[in-house]
Amino acid sequence: MSVERMVVVGASLAGLRAVEAARRAGYDGELVLVGDEVHAPYDRPPLSKAFLDPDGERGAGAVAQFRSEEVLRDELRVDLRLGTRATGLDTTAREVLLGDERLPYDALVIATGSVPRWLPGTDPAGPDGPLEGVTQLRTVEDARRVREALEAGARIVVVGAGFIGSEVASAARKRGLPVTVVEALDVPLTRSVGPEVGVACVELHRAAGTDLRLGVGVAGLDEETPDGPDGRRRVRAVRLTDGTTLPADLVVLGIGVRPATDWLEGSGVALHDGDRGVLVDATLATNVPGVWAAGDMAHVENPLFDGEQHRLEHWTNAADHGAAAARHALDPAAAEPVVTVPYFWSDWYGHRLQFVGTPRADEARVVVDDLATGGGLVVLYRRADRVVGAFVVDLPRVVMKLRRRVLDRGPWKEAVAFATGSEVPTPR
Ligand code: FAD
Ligand code: NAP
Repeated sequence: MSVERMVVVGASLAGLRAVEAARRAGYDGELVLVGDEVHAPYDRPPLSKAFLDPDGERGAGAVAQFRSEEVLRDELRVDLRLGTRATGLDTTAREVLLGDERLPYDALVIATGSVPRWLPGTDPAGPDGPLEGVTQLRTVEDARRVREALEAGARIVVVGAGFIGSEVASAARKRGLPVTVVEALDVPLTRSVGPEVGVACVELHRAAGTDLRLGVGVAGLDEETPDGPDGRRRVRAVRLTDGTTLPADLVVLGIGVRPATDWLEGSGVALHDGDRGVLVDATLATNVPGVWAAGDMAHVENPLFDGEQHRLEHWTNAADHGAAAARHALDPAAAEPVVTVPYFWSDWYGHRLQFVGTPRADEARVVVDDLATGGGLVVLYRRADRVVGAFVVDLPRVVMKLRRRVLDRGPWKEAVAFATGSEVPTPR
């Protein structure tokens, strides 16, 4: 079937890369990009880094927009539907439901990403309405809220010592503000990179003066007594499960995300039993003909790791897979498995953290541990006799060479020798 109209739902990184790739592949037909945010696609990583930095530029100008609406409309000839939510999908009629409107497609790329979780009682859409002073950090609007509070010298409690929590704590410390991070796990980041790395990350927090409370949960949030006629609720303190109360003007929730796939329930597109992410094969095809998926909400088979399924919540994955999904949607017969090495970075307290590969391994070994003396850190992950992953701090040239070894299914011993500098690596 020839594609006369391709629809991409989700106007962020994966969706943008999809429409760009479609035009780059020579596709000349109708191209519709639907997104429920009112902004043209913008870059999220700076929102928890440069945007919060006291030395960074202030305001809307600092938002890293990928392409303007004009360029998308006029140069890429995209029918841009911003501020528009997909509410359902009819896979029999091949139509995306936008409220009362039905938008037909020949090929569809799903790129609706993920949405952050709220703590109980804090969801603004819940019965009690918004609780001021409590925020997530996903959108430009969230980032402005956090930045304003930092500028006002707020007392900050961060819930979750994952990526968001750690980057916000880092921004607070850069301004000299005290910050407390509350994490339910005894060792943070265990699920995403394993306990060996989690322990190293704890040291980074402590060295920077962040008050990190591990193995403790949030029992509840205390509110100010409403004193104005509007009766607006405002947070006053965070109560922990160990009985401690932490006074707070700003509470940032970094407690993870869930795939934004509510609109696909009942559509016939296969969703993961647990988190309801979209299941795709190694070519990014869903179980429904003509429907492809990419980015934060897709569980993808990765041929590099014996067909293991990953749902990655990282930038490079969304960018690469968004482009590949569009190319495959336009020419399914030419679709091939996407073989990439998962990669992410994060910036904490002036350190650059980078990860390549998979942490699902038989062993994780700290092979370089020089952080305390101003050097770097390298943790390698072994599966049988091959290297499958690497976590590196402050050694960017090393991580890219390790990435190559993971892609080549390189031998474990050689990777260890390379990382420790005990042997001259084979030039590539
Ligand atoms: P998203 O960016 O989530 O975009 C999905 C879009 O679809 C959103 O605009 C959403 O509003 C829209 N949408 C959802 N449902 C619907 C619907 N029903 N109808 C219409 N539109 C809908 N990764 C890294 O590797 N390194 C980093 O340093 C890093 N820093 C980050 C910092 C922050 C603050 C955040 C929030 C994320 C960071 N990430 C980082 C993760 C990275 O930004 C994400 O993996 C990436 O944005 C995923 O892109 P996506 O297009 O799949 O999804
Ligand atoms: P995350 O990295 O999944 O971390 C969430 C952390 O909060 C986990 O350690 C989690 O523990 C913990 N947690 C969950 N519920 C909690 C509770 N009730 N109390 C205390 N701790 C709790 O998610 P995130 O930091 O919220 O980031 C959101 C998204 O943005 C993710 O997709 C992330 O990948 C992305 N992001 C990426 C980067 C980057 O790559 N540099 C930077 C910022 C954001 P459990 O594991 O036990 O649930």
